[in-house]
Amino acid sequence: FLEVREIEKSYGTGESHTKVLRGVSTTLERGKMCIILGPSGSGKSTLLNAIGGLDRVDKGSIVVDGLDIAKLEQKELVLYRKNYLGFIFQFYHLVPNLTVKENIQVCEYLTSSPLDLYELQDALGLTEHQNKFPFQLSGGQQQRCAIARALVKNPRLLLCDEPTGALDYTMSKEILVLLEKVNQDYGTTVLIVSHNIAIKDMVHKVIEIKDGKIEKDYRNETIIPAGDLEW
Ligand code: ATP
Ligand code: MG
Repeated sequence: FLEVREIEKSYGTGESHTKVLRGVSTTLERGKMCIILGPSGSGKSTLLNAIGGLDRVDKGSIVVDGLDIAKLEQKELVLYRKNYLGFIFQFYHLVPNLTVKENIQVCEYLTSSPLDLYELQDALGLTEHQNKFPFQLSGGQQQRCAIARALVKNPRLLLCDEPTGALDYTMSKEILVLLEKVNQDYGTTVLIVSHNIAIKDMVHKVIEIKDGKIEKDYRNETIIPAGDLEW
């Protein structure tokens, strides 16, 4: 479903030139969950952004469903993001002057076959908050809203950058249970970037990256349900 081959990415020029991804290759099967682990600055977000078509790579290919993202024109890239992708950012990126419901609808309007807005709000415990603005919500509620927005178009690939980064233990666990449910109920392929190593027990595949290179890349024999994780 997803194949990343020998991608390289640098930032800056001259003395400030840094190679952030140095030949990263991996694959991900359709309908599976995967985590990318690694120290701060190792290139995790850069890799996720490249897969999400938010950032260009210098070399290599990123093939999603037979489509090489690295070679797409800007216009085609927009369509790819619209039709394939859900993106959950570390700091939610909700639109401040829109309510919960409107924030979710922003993405619903963009697509032709969305999930039902009200069912989704209900499933994410947002119904009672639907008319509130982001500043009236807790971190967990904002993250649930961001997740609803990413899910409303029923994406084939869900990219999550530190989905639990700003949340406490209980909230984090709730979000992980939710991502697992999305994966199981809709067959969504889920790729998570996180510092939380407990997540590696609930996913099919673990990728560890360091200094822009893959250090470990393995599959799990047994998978622990998100609800049973302890950390
Ligand atoms: P963290 O766990 O802290 O989020 P990360 O693994 O996601 O780290 P990246 O955000 O991918 O790391 O960054 C990798 C390296 O690339 C860092 O050294 C960072 O300073 C650099 N970098 C990232 N984005 C840019 C940019 N737009 N311009 C210049 N350098 C950048
Ligand atoms: Mg990051």
